[in-house]
Amino acid sequence: MQNLITAINDRARSIKTRPVKLMEVCGTHTMAIGRSGIRSMLPENIDLLSGPGCPVCVTPVEIIDYAIELAKRDDTIIVTFGDMVRVPGTGSTLENHGPVIVYSPLDAIKICEENPDKSIVFIGIGFETTAPTIAATILTAVKRKLSNFYVIPAFKIIPPALEFIASAPKLDIHGLMLPGHVSAVIGSDPYRFLADKYKLPGCVTGFEPIEILKGILNLVDQIADGRVEIAIEYRKAVTPRGNIEAQKLLKKVFEITDSKWRGIGIIPRSGLTLNNDYLYLDAIKRFKIEIPASIEPKACICGQVLLGLQKPTACALFGKKCTPMEPVGPCMVSSEGSCAAYYKYRNTDDTR
Ligand code: SF4
Repeated sequence: MQNLITAINDRARSIKTRPVKLMEVCGTHTMAIGRSGIRSMLPENIDLLSGPGCPVCVTPVEIIDYAIELAKRDDTIIVTFGDMVRVPGTGSTLENHGPVIVYSPLDAIKICEENPDKSIVFIGIGFETTAPTIAATILTAVKRKLSNFYVIPAFKIIPPALEFIASAPKLDIHGLMLPGHVSAVIGSDPYRFLADKYKLPGCVTGFEPIEILKGILNLVDQIADGRVEIAIEYRKAVTPRGNIEAQKLLKKVFEITDSKWRGIGIIPRSGLTLNNDYLYLDAIKRFKIEIPASIEPKACICGQVLLGLQKPTACALFGKKCTPMEPVGPCMVSSEGSCAAYYKYRNTDDTR
């Protein structure tokens, strides 16, 4: 590990652009960086910024408000991943409305079978990483002829969000640490536009401290050499073409759609929704519930944090009115949220 830190320091010294801003796209990277104190090991001219890869953080408030309204019905059970229940909706959180927390979407099948007189609604959030498992769950429900299984489709895909960031007129990011888990499914090829069109170096990176340091060194090397490519420093899990079977599963069940990202807005073709064959399982279409206009917490700057424009510590509420115990925005709730990571590791990493 020390060799990598020394190499990063050596190469960073030769870079004239100061500071060098690298975005860790994935929330799991943000947490791992905080946990291992990597920021405090880096030279002063290397700055790490968080990115949009936290699925709970980017799920729009409307989805939470809609799920809360559905949860109020006596004949409906909302099923979701744990992090979602504490994310603030407009006036409440899901945890006040009795959702069932699952670790795998396949658990929803069992809940359907045990509650045949109720509608089971799974909140379908996540990126290309979790979407294949949810696609498999949908296919299982269809195969078992379950008539009470529905999904709120709120899936996101990463490359369009990166294009949104890369195409910003005043882009101030010099390299991207690309997400290992998402890339295991989609491969590294879908990021090539970042290098070809936007001249932005990228490196697919794993999650151990050594893997993260290798990713940082790769990017610092590219920048120091004036090279631009999409590298893979996570070859045990990622290939250029990705997992073809998982991609087929996604194509079988979903289609690409424009999608709203919390705190950011609509990003074209950045979401997955059920395709025509499975549209009848779409809870939003099946239960036509009206919800009042959704409102995001005013002073929360999660959107800017997710775009790498601000650090959590720039938020006036950080660590004061917004803490993991009493979160104001989703980035302080999620186990992959930047604000939660900065708060949790504020005494052991350089989180300025
Ligand atoms: Fe939002 Fe809280 Fe983070 Fe501020 S500290 S950006 S209010 S989640």
